Amino acid sequence: MPIDKLHELFHRYLMGKFDGDVAEVQVFMETAEEVLPFTLNEYFGTSYTTIYDLQDENEIESLRKKIKAHTVLKNIDRREEPRYTEVLKWYRLFIKSLESSPTPVLVPGEGVPSSDEDTFHGVQEKASERTTTFTTIYLEGEAAMQQPKEIRLRNQHLKEACKAYFRELHHGRLVCECCGFDFEKAYGKVGEDYIEIHHRSPFSQTEGEHPVSAITDLVPLCSNCHSMIHKAAKGQGTCISVEELQELYKGIKYNE
Ligand SMILES: [Zn+2]
Ligand SMILES: [Zn+2]
Repeated sequence: MPIDKLHELFHRYLMGKFDGDVAEVQVFMETAEEVLPFTLNEYFGTSYTTIYDLQDENEIESLRKKIKAHTVLKNIDRREEPRYTEVLKWYRLFIKSLESSPTPVLVPGEGVPSSDEDTFHGVQEKASERTTTFTTIYLEGEAAMQQPKEIRLRNQHLKEACKAYFRELHHGRLVCECCGFDFEKAYGKVGEDYIEIHHRSPFSQTEGEHPVSAITDLVPLCSNCHSMIHKAAKGQGTCISVEELQELYKGIKYNE
């Protein structure tokens, strides 16, 4: 399967798994595509030019274990968000979902767009193809039983702790720490308890093992501010600081 197809399918897979959290998915994609293959090459002598060169489930799992056991990488892995091992777990489940698909997702060579075919018509055809593929991937949702639960749960605890702290800080309201947007106020019941939790230091410079603090390492942001805090940094899964974002922000200050 061509790389751009795999890229697209992996993106859709993660969007399904992360409830459409665009910023989170972007960080996972960037780590998988732009960081991981080179990290693996550097530390384990592999020669991947892209993560999609790596399609053997056992190999993915074995590399994940190697990271966990590696004297240097295991510490990096604990500090970075998203963790390499976490990204590899999702990637393996994605590969598994392709393999266990009851009907082939795509016949190799099928639908490979050449650049000059990329006309409006071509795009439309690709879109319909995607719809089929997308549905198949969703049906594979049963694989969710094998998702990296311990990591998701851990993150969930942190997120809840972060929400609780900042809610307390704002007298019971959960608001964006940049612009003050309040989902509940704006959308009513459907927005209740909703906010995105951002990791302030995806590439923490802290030496040694470093536990994540729900108060100082995490910060609640609305979806717009969360997207922009990553986009403004342009780097691979990096971000600018909340303070820098606040300086850039020219929109409505909801908490004034
Ligand atoms: Zn905001
Ligand atoms: Zn973030």
